[in-house]
This record gives sequence, C-alpha cells and structure tokens, in this order.
Amino acid sequence: MTNRDIEALLRHNVKSIAPYASARDEFENFLSGQIFLDANENPYNNGLNRYPDPHQRKLKERLSALKGIPPENILIGNGSDEILDLLFRAFCYPQKDAVITMPPTYGMYGVLAALNDIRNIKVNLKSNFQPDTDAVLANSSRAKMLFICSPNNPTSNSFEKNTVKTLLENFKGIVVIDEAYVDFSNQESWASRLSEYPNLVVIRTLSKAYGCAGLRVGICLASSLIISTLDKIKPPYNVNALSQEAALKQLENTAGIHRQIEAIVRGRQLLAEQLKNISFVKQVYPSDANFLLIEVDDASKRYRQLIEKHIVVRNRSHEPLCGNCLRITIGTPEENEALSLAFQNLETT
Ligand SMILES: *Cc1c(COP(=O)(O)O)cnc(C)c1O
Repeated sequence: MTNRDIEALLRHNVKSIAPYASARDEFENFLSGQIFLDANENPYNNGLNRYPDPHQRKLKERLSALKGIPPENILIGNGSDEILDLLFRAFCYPQKDAVITMPPTYGMYGVLAALNDIRNIKVNLKSNFQPDTDAVLANSSRAKMLFICSPNNPTSNSFEKNTVKTLLENFKGIVVIDEAYVDFSNQESWASRLSEYPNLVVIRTLSKAYGCAGLRVGICLASSLIISTLDKIKPPYNVNALSQEAALKQLENTAGIHRQIEAIVRGRQLLAEQLKNISFVKQVYPSDANFLLIEVDDASKRYRQLIEKHIVVRNRSHEPLCGNCLRITIGTPEENEALSLAFQNLETT
C-alpha cells in the first residue's frame, strides 16, 4: 500500500478539515518571560492555571528517545481508547463502512464500532487462538480497518509473526496492532516496521507495564500522514497537564519499570505452575501478557467463590472459545500467593 491508498481510505470531511488552532498552539513555554493574554486563562499561577501543551512536545520527545521513533510518528491520546475512537472517525463513514475484529479480543473495538455506527465483522480466532487469515482476507474488500491485538486480551498469547505479516501485506485497509501487553513478551514491536507498511498503526499504552492506568495516556505510532490526520481531529487539549507531567516523571524510572515487568513475568510463571496442580483447573493457557487465561470446571461458581474470599478476577466464559474461562491479572507476589492459596482451599472444600 502507498500513502495515496491511505488518502483514499480517509473520510472526505476529515481530509478537508483545517486543524483547530488553539491559543496554546503558538506558545513554546511559560518560562520565556512573555505575557500571555491570549487564552482567557486565570493569570494567577497555581501550577494548573494554563492550558496544557496541545502537542505534548516534551512527552513526545521522551517517548521518541525511548522507542527510537520520530515525534512526527507519534500521537498521544487520553488512553488508547481515545486513539481507537479517532481512527474510527478518521477512516469510517457511519452506517456505511465496516471493520474486522477477531474475537475473543479486547471489547473496546466492538464498543467503538457500535458507538460510531460502523459494522463490526467478527472473524473468530481459530481454536489455537491464532487469526484465521483466510477468513479475514476474504472480508478485506468490505472493511476499512482490521484490529489485531497481540498479545491478545483475553487469550494472552501473541500472534505468530508470519500470520501478522500476511495480514499486514494483504489486508486492503488500515491494520491496527494493539500492543498494550507487548512489554510482557519477547516479541519485537511492529513499530520498528512502520516505514515498510503505510497502512500500519501500532497502539501502545502507559496503562499496563508502565503502571499508569490512572493517567489515561495512550500512544499511537504510525506514518506521519496518519498521525497528522488524527492530530487534526483530536480534541486540542486531550491530554491534561497533570497527566503529561506525571507521565514524564514515570518515564524517568525505566529501570524501575523493567524490574516490575520482570517481577510480573516471574509471578506469571510461578502462578501458572501452581494453578496447573489444581484439580478443577482444566487448562492454563501460555501467556505473553500480565494475566493468565485459565479454564476451570465451572467458571461462574469459581468466580463467586473467589469473590467470597475477597479476590476479584474476570469471568470471560461468555466470550467465544473461552467457555468456563477466568482471566486473572498477575499481582504482587503476596497477591499471587493469596490467589494460589484460595484455589488450594477451594480444592479441599
Ligand atoms: C488495557 C488495554 C488497553 C489500554 O487501554 P487504555 O485506554 O490505554 O488504558 C488497550 N488495549 C488492550 C487490548 C488492553 O487490554
């Protein structure tokens, strides 16, 4: 695909929109001794009286250095959820276009499709939790976007590299690869291949490995054409000042973050081994994420019993291919131990 193909996929109104120029578009920073009487802000400094940087320049610079991706290929959203919504609005006409999702997968793709009145063509994963490439590509001409979540939530596995490559090279629309959990895997990020695939959009988040779910900071990595288009349609101040500041601070501590990721991966291995020994656990699926998907004898019953023991997990048994499955987030070693003990207790009662 070429940039011209991408242009052809965009909605006409989006293409012709001129970006909203906010007062804060022109400023660089407040340290330069200028007098700012342009944005109707309260002049009395309390640390929050000014509008935030609409371009999140400092945060983008930091992310650029961390990920080796130029700032013009980065868009920051109020969580990945906002980025997904922007993609729908940039590429899909309500009541006309369709997207492809591959259940069981992250629920927000379907929610946002419904919200934007876009048809969601569901092509279930195969029983080994890998994409059904033939069935996806058979629908290619009908869909504007394809959502690939790898490692996938809730199945916890990564998709095979060649499978993703086949989809990237043959799908005739935008391919969104959601890498929310990639830091917990040994997989290479597809972000390093952006220059090869103009239709590739990689989504990352600070909500999982980076420990900042409360900040709502999502990261979109794509061609400068796609990024500049999304930039035009995003709300100007979509990432608030406190979040930008706190995200920068968290990103200073990369060594600490890596230690946490290692601890979570160790906890995952240990917990998986322990759960495999529980008689009513039928299956512990291999995980590339910070959670385990397990099949039990009776998911609703086990879910309720865990709640009684003050442990909350996610019952995913209504999802396709996930009959009697629970999704369990890896906690601290103490929390994992408590879960493991709870399972052992349930076994004997
Ligand atoms: C948790 C999660 C996210 C994160 O969403 P945010 O809005 O950035 O918090 C994104 N994608 C998937 C698949 C997830 O499971």
